[in-house]
Amino acid sequence: MRVKINVTGIVQGVGFRPFVYRLAVQNGLAGYVRNRGDAGVEILLEGEEQSVQRFLRDLKAKKPPLAQIHDVITTTLKGKNEHAKFAIIKSSETTEFSGSVIPPDIAICDDCLRELRDPKDPRYEYFFITCTNCGPRFTIIERLPYDRENTTMRDFPMRGYCQREYVDPLNRRFHAQTVACPTCGPKAYLTTRDGTLIEHEDPVREAGRLLSEGAILAVKGYGGFHVASSATREEPLQALRRTKHRRAKPFAMMARSLDAAKGFAEVTSKEEALLTSPSRSIVLLNKSGGYALSPLVAPDLHNVGVMLPYTAMHYMLFDRVDDAAFVMTSANPPTQPIVKDNDEAIRMLGDTVDYFLFHNRRIANRCDDSVLRVHGNRQSFIRRSRGYAPAPLMLKEKTERCIVGLGGELNNTACVLQANKAFISQHIGDVENVETRKFLQEATNHLIRLTNSQVEAVACDLHPKFTTTLLAQALAEQNGWQLIQVQHHHAHVAALMMEHAVDELVGVVCDGYGYGVDGSAWGGEILFCTRESAGFERLAHLEKQPLLGGDVATRYPLRVAAGILSRKTDVANWLLERSGHLLHGETEAKLILQQLQKGVSVVETTSCGRVLDAVAAVLGVCYERTYEGEPAMKLESAAVRGKDALNLKPVINGNMLDTTQLIHAVFESIGKASTADLAYSAHAYIARGLATLAVEKALEKGVKAVGFSGGAASNQILTQLMRETVEAAGLRFLVHEAVPPGDGGVSFGQAVVGGFWRF
Ligand SMILES: [Zn+2]
Ligand SMILES: [Zn+2]
Repeated sequence: MRVKINVTGIVQGVGFRPFVYRLAVQNGLAGYVRNRGDAGVEILLEGEEQSVQRFLRDLKAKKPPLAQIHDVITTTLKGKNEHAKFAIIKSSETTEFSGSVIPPDIAICDDCLRELRDPKDPRYEYFFITCTNCGPRFTIIERLPYDRENTTMRDFPMRGYCQREYVDPLNRRFHAQTVACPTCGPKAYLTTRDGTLIEHEDPVREAGRLLSEGAILAVKGYGGFHVASSATREEPLQALRRTKHRRAKPFAMMARSLDAAKGFAEVTSKEEALLTSPSRSIVLLNKSGGYALSPLVAPDLHNVGVMLPYTAMHYMLFDRVDDAAFVMTSANPPTQPIVKDNDEAIRMLGDTVDYFLFHNRRIANRCDDSVLRVHGNRQSFIRRSRGYAPAPLMLKEKTERCIVGLGGELNNTACVLQANKAFISQHIGDVENVETRKFLQEATNHLIRLTNSQVEAVACDLHPKFTTTLLAQALAEQNGWQLIQVQHHHAHVAALMMEHAVDELVGVVCDGYGYGVDGSAWGGEILFCTRESAGFERLAHLEKQPLLGGDVATRYPLRVAAGILSRKTDVANWLLERSGHLLHGETEAKLILQQLQKGVSVVETTSCGRVLDAVAAVLGVCYERTYEGEPAMKLESAAVRGKDALNLKPVINGNMLDTTQLIHAVFESIGKASTADLAYSAHAYIARGLATLAVEKALEKGVKAVGFSGGAASNQILTQLMRETVEAAGLRFLVHEAVPPGDGGVSFGQAVVGGFWRF
């Protein structure tokens, strides 16, 4: 019998061909296996029918751990057998099937870790030891199929035992494209901040020693550079914080081990599973009572981002020091994507760091670390990137047309939706300038090529001036694609609905800003969405509040607070006393007061983020937003040990949750209750108020579920309190687990609306 088998899924770069080879040989079958240009694998089998059947059964049952099989397409061939034995043959460039993709980067496996520490192993202490089961994938691939010459490993011709292992069917590195050793593989080296080589026989451990002693290093990893420093010494952390965009932004850390992480943070079993998974994401952990690292790592926050080492180099950094953790934060200059090239690093990071720990393998695709937090026992993405992208989200149904979503403006991603798969790109960042626009364009094109997608439509935001909207318009024109514009919060709810395969939902969406259908600023919305209607109905929202000074008010929450308070109180003295927290001090405060007196018309917003900002300012928890979400994050941290002391009854006026009353109640209670209790009470008011409204609307509409999305859904207190209210009413409460609730999930939601809902 002769059969041709095409396998789609994640089947390249996961040891699939070696596995097929062994399976075929075991079953006495002849033929071949090869990678294809569409990221799939093609197998030809010749032999007994029984053997072929056994092969097909085991193909799925015994597949390598990292492989994902989506489809196995089998065709019986006529004609005589042509092969005397089974072989792995040269890859074909054929691109016939869509939907396969190469895997994300995978953390070093236990076997490689063991060899790293074994003095008898030829890769003993080699900082880039990998095998078919681990190592970089997405970050090194330039084109398909996944063969060494199509990756940045082509710069390192294999020699000696690397070459022998590569062709040995019994070896773990049989056809492992990232195989390398100290002789033939990438090299690590240290330089000064201007790129001058520092001769050292053990550059990686020397880098660890320098970090421990207080130096700041840029360390090149898989998907880009980290800026690294000690997590206990004040001097390097203070130096890092001297640049404005890093004044208070929390730094992620790499702990030397799980035990070390448990020394300064609380780790639940779910968090432990995420920390140690092959994706090795940053997980936000609550600081423990024994937290003895510098407060400068994550100032004024109750939690801290921690990841575990994911390359041999990371492990080796800790070898000769006893630091529990190092700061290892993405090297993103302000408004720029993560730095990936060596010369780029010297140019852009030379002022920040004392040394560079380089390696000489090029990075094909930038890829930031992923960030997760755990709510109860559910994972919630802050950022879905390294370790996840470009693996697809498998949906429960197929769309007829292939569509690409370009997302919104901040914390952006792109998404290619094809049949029942959504391929979401790595984290792109804030698409506001030429560099990030270019990154978005490249990442999107790469994703389309990697998945062999025949795109027919492009989806984007409703905002007429977003860079992504303009890009979508240009792409639509160039390629003859249909252009579909999706309202920001609608995209959030659509993403949530598709994730849970529900056809209708009352969705609460809370975030900082989204362009409303009327052009005004939305951000605290209750929408009713159905598949049938394709559109959505805005059922309710937070009260509109003034944004004194527009965008300036999002940076200085005192302005928002003053605007709201002035509706019922004379804020003159209050504001003047705090004018030191405004950019231009007293002059600015007086100007604001004049505006308030004259009743000058200002931009208004229903944003939940701005209400949380106002509470943070009234409580003195945060007066300036130096990074995205800062006031709200600090407010949550302040509330963590609080209780609902005010127990306010939500004031609902028709379809609107009153927030003026909330800000006043908090204002009047200062000194009567603790900051923690007041911060918690504010969370409770917003969560219960919105949930009560949503439940009321859901019951009116006969809808069985209420969902929560938007960046504020990363807030654990809001999520938990909303869940209690919704479930107490006998309704299902839906949150995101597979895509970020924040704007990283918008591209997926846009693609869903365009691909499934609107024909
Ligand atoms: Zn390995
Ligand atoms: Zn070698």
